[in-house]
Amino acid sequence: MTLRTGLAFLALAAAMAIASPASAALNVFACEPEWGALSTELGGGDVDVFVATTARQDPHQIQARPALISRLRNADIAVCTGAELEIGWMPVLLRQSSNGKVQPGSPGYFEATQQVRLLEVPTRLDRAEGDVHPQGNPHVQNDPRYMRVIAAALAKRLAEIDPAHAAGYAQRAKAFDDELGQAIQRWQMAAAPLKGVNAVIYHKDWVYLFAWLGINEVATIEPKPGVPPGGAYLAQLLDEVPKRQAKLIVYAAYQDSRAPDFIADKTHIRAVMLPFTVGGSDAAKDLFGFYDDTIKRLLAGLGGNGG
Ligand SMILES: [Zn+2]
Repeated sequence: MTLRTGLAFLALAAAMAIASPASAALNVFACEPEWGALSTELGGGDVDVFVATTARQDPHQIQARPALISRLRNADIAVCTGAELEIGWMPVLLRQSSNGKVQPGSPGYFEATQQVRLLEVPTRLDRAEGDVHPQGNPHVQNDPRYMRVIAAALAKRLAEIDPAHAAGYAQRAKAFDDELGQAIQRWQMAAAPLKGVNAVIYHKDWVYLFAWLGINEVATIEPKPGVPPGGAYLAQLLDEVPKRQAKLIVYAAYQDSRAPDFIADKTHIRAVMLPFTVGGSDAAKDLFGFYDDTIKRLLAGLGGNGG
């Protein structure tokens, strides 16, 4: 083979590689927007990401729609929170999809909460305590230090099921970890005034964020997890919130703002809507914007008199 024909052959082989289905992107089914964003960070052009839910939806309560089933049927990997956050809908989707690749226990099924140590693991389970998460609090995305650990595990998993692009996953994982590590330093400095602040929350969504920033949870607007507040309970809260020296009322983009606004109005403590995930606010366009905006909003809530 001459050099010329050799080069022509290489060019042809490269063109065929682009056209061949073997180089097609990995189909990722992300249960929540934060895992879609993370998959995009780690997968780049090697993945095709479908996100099953939006920041405006309560991830505890999703309908197992046929459109989701067909998406899961074609997925190479499902990336979810786990710890039973999706217990009301993922088992149905998994069953109906009949996709062996993404069933629990296979490499194509990834749970973020399996990669970290969960907080608030109940010592006993009692349905009278409301809709408690039996394996511990699943809302881990709110602490970027957890996100870092989960990212490393997910990058490994992507490389495992798509070895042809292993180098790309490793490279992007390193870049993401470096950038996130630096951002965490920045966020921690900016968030210093939040340390020791008492906050009222809606649902027990914020344990990881509060543990990271040193914010104290002093009351919940839900009397029990998953149970909306009634009038008598709200009246009792109005009485107790000032006594507990709360400085903020925190709720998620997907939660009803009426009860937080009502308490804010009566107690002159500012209610702060936090994105909770990517897409929960205009600024939360990706994971960096999500953490950035979360801290900005908390600080803004502290600064105002709310009245
Ligand atoms: Zn929850």
